[in-house]
Amino acid sequence: MGASGGTGTNSGSPSDSSWERVCDKFKKEFGLQAYSTWLGQLGYNGLDGGTVELTAPTKFVRDWIQRNYGPRLMDFFHAEDSRVKSLSIRLAAKGAVPATPAQPVVRSSAQGRSNGDASAAADEKAALDPKYTFDSFVVGKSNELAYAAAKRIADSDEVAFNPLFLHGGVGLGKTHLMHAIAWEVRRRAPQKKVAYVSAEKFMFEFIAAIRYKDTHAFKQKFRAADLLMVDDVQFIANKDSTQEEFFHTFNALIDNRCQVVITADRSPTDLEGIEERIISRLGWGLVADIHPTDYELRLGILQSKAEQVENVDVPVEVLEFLAKRIISNVRELEGALNRVMAYATLVGRPITMEMTRDVLQDLIRANDRKVTIDEIQRSVAEYYNLRLAEMLSQRRARVIARPRQVAMFLSKQLTSRSLPEIGRKFGGRDHTTVMHAVRKVEDLVKSDSQLDEDIARLTRLLAG
Ligand code: ADP
Ligand code: MG
Repeated sequence: MGASGGTGTNSGSPSDSSWERVCDKFKKEFGLQAYSTWLGQLGYNGLDGGTVELTAPTKFVRDWIQRNYGPRLMDFFHAEDSRVKSLSIRLAAKGAVPATPAQPVVRSSAQGRSNGDASAAADEKAALDPKYTFDSFVVGKSNELAYAAAKRIADSDEVAFNPLFLHGGVGLGKTHLMHAIAWEVRRRAPQKKVAYVSAEKFMFEFIAAIRYKDTHAFKQKFRAADLLMVDDVQFIANKDSTQEEFFHTFNALIDNRCQVVITADRSPTDLEGIEERIISRLGWGLVADIHPTDYELRLGILQSKAEQVENVDVPVEVLEFLAKRIISNVRELEGALNRVMAYATLVGRPITMEMTRDVLQDLIRANDRKVTIDEIQRSVAEYYNLRLAEMLSQRRARVIARPRQVAMFLSKQLTSRSLPEIGRKFGGRDHTTVMHAVRKVEDLVKSDSQLDEDIARLTRLLAG
């Protein structure tokens, strides 16, 4: 646990631990990559009056953080100390600007350096999480297509579909699958050059390359890849010059029959602020979405994680409890399990239900507040332009019955209510009706891409 905060100039002020907690919250909300690209570059110098004093290595990093993360950082600091009124990010005095822009993760893993150097090698270790492999990925209905597609790319030398575009909400395993592809390719075909980069980092490096007048090297690096993976492309929306470069790189690679894998938190057509021609080309290959987890998958994931830890026994009822109550995403689910295990180890007692409830109070409450069936019904009715009463009525016309089934399906997916409970909320229907609706929708989305899209949108609307 507890990665420490900034790498910079920690002054050893008494509230360093609050900086650590702010960093942890940041990681939780924006992910490890965003952390290492941005916040992890800051130094923390303590609180002066009501102002948090931070230092950044470059103006770009400073501006980026202020613009994109400023308000959330304020929230985090404010939660630590209510006296905090503002943030000040100064530029670090000197030496903080990297002599060369950070390296992307391109190199052949066979001999250790194709066009890379020591720093690229180090980068690669940092960039690929050893835990994110196919073996540790638990497959269920909501992610089976994405998994199969990722596996196919990792296992074959032919370019199967280009690009593979994986999309789904936060914490549902997109990055995990990308890393799994990279690990597998490195193992199976070590001569291949694999480049993995977050879109944010791609942009950061591109801008640095322009600044250091080194765009040629930048281009070479990415275009030398056999397999390019760009994570979270929604980040380059509205960033014109980065988009342009991304598009050229992307086209160049595809034309060379190099495999490209891309992830985003939404489907290509829902990516706003990205040029039409890019969107259309992104959709040329295979678009696979990862749906929110259902109860079984959550339980499966918990079981697999619990098994990986030796000497800690997690009772089945605890796993079931977590799978039922922590429905937001897998990251949070894992976090909950880790917290319980860490606590049990710390106090040297076996894990019990009581302990679990105790340790996770806040999380459970937060998840309880999540989506309700009422909200789902309202959103679905609105989405399909129906009146709520109409949707809940007994009418069987498809234009009404289908949205009703969608709403039932989402109620099953996004809440922890049982089938009979859901039935009751839908005008006192029987639980078999709900079950039928859930199956029907699961079945339809396989062939009906419009419905699939509708569900993805609604899910984002409700759970996102
Ligand atoms: P995303 O990139 O979609 O936001 P991540 O890939 O970072 O999500 O996943 C969040 C966490 O959940 C990671 O620790 C990952 O290992 C875990 N996770 C997500 N889906 C699964 C799965 N199906 N099986 C095992 N672990 C998973
Ligand atoms: Mg991710």
